[in-house]
Amino acid sequence: MEWETVIGLEIHAQLNTVSKIFSGASTAYGAEPNTQACLVDLGYPGQLPVLNGEAVAKAVKFGLATGSKVARRSVFARKNYFYPDLPKGYQISQFELPIVQEGKIEVVLEDGSTMLVGLTRAHLEEDAGKSLHEDFKGKTGVDLNRAGTPLLEIVSEPDMRNAKQAVAYMKTIHTLVRYLDISDGNMQEGSFRCDANVSVRRKGSETFGTRSEIKNLNSFRFVERAINFEVERQIDILESGGKVVQETRLYDSVKDETRSMRSKEEANDYRYFPDPDLLPVVLEEGYIEDIAATLPELPAQKRARFIGDFGLSAYDAGVLTASRELGDYYEHVVERLGGEAKLASNWVTGELAGALNRAGLDISQSAVGPQALADMLGRVVDNTISGKIAKDVFEAMWSGEGTADEIIDARGLKQITDTSAIESVIDQVMAASPGQLADYRSGKDKLFGYFVGQVMKATQGKANPAQVNELLRQKLAG
Ligand code: ADP
Ligand code: MG
Repeated sequence: MEWETVIGLEIHAQLNTVSKIFSGASTAYGAEPNTQACLVDLGYPGQLPVLNGEAVAKAVKFGLATGSKVARRSVFARKNYFYPDLPKGYQISQFELPIVQEGKIEVVLEDGSTMLVGLTRAHLEEDAGKSLHEDFKGKTGVDLNRAGTPLLEIVSEPDMRNAKQAVAYMKTIHTLVRYLDISDGNMQEGSFRCDANVSVRRKGSETFGTRSEIKNLNSFRFVERAINFEVERQIDILESGGKVVQETRLYDSVKDETRSMRSKEEANDYRYFPDPDLLPVVLEEGYIEDIAATLPELPAQKRARFIGDFGLSAYDAGVLTASRELGDYYEHVVERLGGEAKLASNWVTGELAGALNRAGLDISQSAVGPQALADMLGRVVDNTISGKIAKDVFEAMWSGEGTADEIIDARGLKQITDTSAIESVIDQVMAASPGQLADYRSGKDKLFGYFVGQVMKATQGKANPAQVNELLRQKLAG
């Protein structure tokens, strides 16, 4: 029996405002517990929330960037439940009238094809505090620094059909929020996480199956694994005649499995109602237009431009626009190099990305800046060094030995392009390999590579490869 998977994600992006969504307390990460929680965050009676305008502006940016409907009037609601890290007894969120509604986003999949994923809504809400179980024996600590941190919850339509699509969608949103500078997207710190809703149904069926919701996934790898585990689990249940129950589940990354947290019967009734402490948010046209004017070039636009202007493949353009900083770096290289877009792309996605990866750095921390890389590539283009020697030069630049020219001089790496010099090396190599020469001349064409290797070895890799090839062909032919 063939099954089809259905997935919808609820992504929580922490907005990178300086202060909290309803108070003036700092949102900085990593402070001592409870040093960044003011009376509003602590839920003291009589304290009134004041909406942070920056949080609203960032939500509007997201709405505009995704072509969604930005609600001219939205309402904050209380979501009521009891938990030690929620001193007020309710979370302020948006329910019936969220600030962003009904959009669509284009997602590029691994194979370069694209799909559209519907956005149901994106609403503003405050984060809760954190319970600390590890530090206290037999007790639980509560840290309220995170209480009141602004979140944008982005809810997708159930449009994804496998785990890879879900991950690609999540990466698209991740890239977008960082382009827009509305979230730092730091997944280790919990600034970007999701709940994955998963169900299966028989192929061809029109109705959805019963879903489970896997909470709080904070890495792309966990999203993929948790969904795949869940799909298998649900199929097993259905194929053995059972029924999937609607429930919330947790993903255990150590055991690589999901476990039940609570079923729908035990689920909270949140008794949402409009928060009487906060007025509806009413946005004027001029305000929205002003924000629209601040939108940067979006990832999809940049990708299209890189394909159109630089002739890059869809894949390379996707890699180079994964972050604004990487795209800027690449454009810098091309500009200084005065073209050679493909060469620059190969180096940025190849050698440079590899070096960054090994060092665990991101592009803004690169030991080799765009100008330095462009100047080095200029020496490949003008034939001072070969592409192969360029890798050594790059490595030396990475470890701080100087500019490309300094390294080429100091190490004597200048390419040998003098025809007579190369010819004399070829003569020596041929004289030293009479057996190979005879074999080659009697038809063993494969030995050509051997001679190239010998010439390169004799010149420490410095002979111009194209010239070596051409001159060798002539000389070997006799
Ligand atoms: P809730 O607020 O109770 O979690 P929603 O209706 O807001 O419920 O849905 C939350 C998410 O679940 C959305 O992303 C939606 O696309 C997804 N979803 C809804 N039904 C299904 C289903 N049958 N299978 C998979 N995902 C679903
Ligand atoms: Mg949900």
